[in-house]
Amino acid sequence: MQDIIDEITSDMLGRHDKGKVASYIPQLACVDPNQFAISVVLPSGEVFNSGCTSTLFSIQSISKVFTLTLALGKLGNAIWKRVGREPSGDPFNSIVQLEHEQGKPRNPFVNAGAIAVADAIMQGHPPKETLAEILQFVRFLANDETIAIDEKVARSELETGSRNASLAHFMASFGHFEHPVDQVLGTYFHHCSIAMNTQQLATAGLFLANNGINPSTGFAVVSAMRAKRINALMLTCGHYDGSGEFAFRVGLPGKSGVGGGILAVAPGKASIAVWSPGLDSVGNSKLGSLALEKLAHRTGWSIFSAD
Ligand code: GLN
Repeated sequence: MQDIIDEITSDMLGRHDKGKVASYIPQLACVDPNQFAISVVLPSGEVFNSGCTSTLFSIQSISKVFTLTLALGKLGNAIWKRVGREPSGDPFNSIVQLEHEQGKPRNPFVNAGAIAVADAIMQGHPPKETLAEILQFVRFLANDETIAIDEKVARSELETGSRNASLAHFMASFGHFEHPVDQVLGTYFHHCSIAMNTQQLATAGLFLANNGINPSTGFAVVSAMRAKRINALMLTCGHYDGSGEFAFRVGLPGKSGVGGGILAVAPGKASIAVWSPGLDSVGNSKLGSLALEKLAHRTGWSIFSAD
């Protein structure tokens, strides 16, 4: 495994076309695109690292996996009244479908869906308490108390967040919101601004590769059924309008973020986190996807493989 990921890392570092870093969040535009990291964590707890695996990056939309997991814990199936379970086929920040479908987002991973999930998990708590709860949950999953929110990124998102504010106000106009829009947006921007490295992220995702149990702590995070369903949503919706392409090339449930990270799950085999800040045209990490494609090919981990 170490040889495989070291080869992938040197291959990725040698590539010229690394994609473009997200610039609509100014703080993310400052990130050096010439960085690459990959961490693979096995259910046994064994960790394989290659590249800059201790460098913190903004997990952005990968946080939506954690907020969905929390929401399922708090609300159970009632969360599906707020968001659907279908791929959108639209960009992550699209508004068009919301008008056709009465303000109910297609899935919890597009921005509108994650904003609705943030509203649902607030449940009458002030935003600070909700954020503390999300952060505590991520720390628990990663078994690492040092994980924190990057306030600079959160502020940068807030200052340039007109599109997300539009999505939120539009949904609120259908009467779906339980909390003031600005509080929900504050919660959403802050959970997107959690900073992690690939090793922490791969560890945090391990429960999804292991029937809902985090083997490094022994804690049952969710039931096996729920882990399976979260994986299904990651496969079908985790890369927005690039989800079909990701399933075709990589064949693993995965969730991307505009910070350039991807969390991928090989059920029963491994949790994998990659990071390369440059994005492709739909906002998914360009070299991160390529690295996962190579890893899936070398290991035979695609969920569609008969091996
Ligand atoms: N915080 C980002 C946004 O709202 C998340 C988008 C993403 O990572 N795809 O635009």
